[in-house]
Amino acid sequence: MELDALAFGAHADDAELGCGGTLIKLAAAGHRTGVIALTRGEMASRGSVEIRAREFEDSAALLGLAAHEMLDIPDARVEASWENKLKLIQRIRAHRPRIIFAPYWVDRHPDHEKTSQLVREAFFLAALKKIETGQPPVRPHKLIFYPTRFDFTPSFIVDVSAHHPQKIRAILAYRSQFGADDREDPEAPETLISRPAFLDRIESRARQYGAQIGVLQGEPFLVREAIRVDDPVEFFGPEYLWTIP
Ligand SMILES: [Zn+2]
Repeated sequence: MELDALAFGAHADDAELGCGGTLIKLAAAGHRTGVIALTRGEMASRGSVEIRAREFEDSAALLGLAAHEMLDIPDARVEASWENKLKLIQRIRAHRPRIIFAPYWVDRHPDHEKTSQLVREAFFLAALKKIETGQPPVRPHKLIFYPTRFDFTPSFIVDVSAHHPQKIRAILAYRSQFGADDREDPEAPETLISRPAFLDRIESRARQYGAQIGVLQGEPFLVREAIRVDDPVEFFGPEYLWTIP
């Protein structure tokens, strides 16, 4: 079954944080969505590979994903190698998504920057039929970047107000990552609220972008090309008016 939207992240939880609200919104609208984590997160300071895989399952259910996969690219060693490009080309051709989400190409974590480059190149190369993977070539319609550490001036912002609480649930599914460091049991649910600063940052960022389009919470996205508009009268309908919620 083909996907409508496929989000790539270097690690499980990258896509949830960057575009989780939009993925939930798309699934709620009947679109088929998927997430692919390039690594198993074995270099994370907290949580084993087994725990992270289980959390990835929990989060996928909360996001309403039609597909989710973890690849086996080594964590903290994501390279834009031909071998890795082929892996991504194969996954893009397997899922045939209409749009692809990738992390913004400027980041603190080298894996995020490399993932951005890998997805951008695989997005293009997946259409070349002489690159043989035993699958038909595919040209997804659009490559869209979500922010990780650093902000950018968005090309557009998606209103995720109705789905923001569910996004938070999906993020909190990664109990091992978002618990406080001083807990003995990283899976103890009370660790979730022991780091309010983390959730505060997610919340204030969502509100900051929501405010830019007159809604409660928003997720910003960046595309490299100009956005084609055929009918500006229809495109800039009444929902584009600035309205304070
Ligand atoms: Zn990450």
